[in-house]
Amino acid sequence: MTRTSGIVVLAALLLPVMVACTQQAAPDAGTSAAPDAMQCGARGGVAVQVLGSGGPIADDARASTGYIVWIDGKARALIDAGGGTFLRFAQSGARFEDLDFIGLSHLHADHSADFPALIKSANFSPRTRSLSIGGPDGRGVFPGLSDYLRTTLGEGGAYAYLGAFLKGTANKPMLTPREVPRDETVFVYTSENLNIDAMHVPHGPVPAVAFRVRVEERTIIFASDQNGGALAFPEFAQDAAILVMHMVVPEDATGAARRLHAPPSVIGSIADRANARTLVLSHFMARSLRDLDGNVELVKQQDDGEIVVADDLACIPL
Ligand SMILES: [Zn+2]
Repeated sequence: MTRTSGIVVLAALLLPVMVACTQQAAPDAGTSAAPDAMQCGARGGVAVQVLGSGGPIADDARASTGYIVWIDGKARALIDAGGGTFLRFAQSGARFEDLDFIGLSHLHADHSADFPALIKSANFSPRTRSLSIGGPDGRGVFPGLSDYLRTTLGEGGAYAYLGAFLKGTANKPMLTPREVPRDETVFVYTSENLNIDAMHVPHGPVPAVAFRVRVEERTIIFASDQNGGALAFPEFAQDAAILVMHMVVPEDATGAARRLHAPPSVIGSIADRANARTLVLSHFMARSLRDLDGNVELVKQQDDGEIVVADDLACIPL
């Protein structure tokens, strides 16, 4: 394998920025939110920005899951909208009117809870063109993407007052859902310079999908929460320039935790088999941060590519 070895810990580089954004930007400071955080989009080119690097437990001082794909200064795709990403979205400088696609990898709250808040914000946006949304079909207690939108924004839904977004009325952009069926890889968004397809990944009983974003013949993979057991996934992620995976559980995880999530060695093995150039580790909780160095070392034993340990608002250029 000829890839450059190394580890890049953006957390260390960005920590001063994070502290400035999250703790010192008092409302009366008279400054707009986190100008340094806006550099990811402003730098131009293609980049992934982490909106939320945390998980479902409110113990890590991180937003839950969310990522932006920047292309030439515009936030073109939003992948996941967990709690806290509403704030990070604003801090990043992203604008709703620039989005071409929103992907909800699954309907756990730590991946979707801020979606209605973002739609509420969009109520104040000048955007009128429709917006594609991709996500899984339903199973068990989890609705499919279309039912989720209907029961959230539709008639009788909790936020039915935002129902114009489902109908495209009142000059609101119509949200057009594309559900990803099981055992099939389907396109959820296509345009001249941005193509996104998705496949189901195993996340216990939870329907969940990974997104493959192709920009300028390069590939970014958002692996979602998964246990790493899908034989087709490393092929799906083959030659990814950026592979975002979620390091949720320690190596000795068992039971439900292991059925839901891949331990560090499996993450490393997948990145190696996919020949990923840069592996971004994300979705941390206090318990997975406790021995972060040890867990990253287990990943490195399987994969000799570049590794980025994400923090909120970290920027990974393509
Ligand atoms: Zn999660």
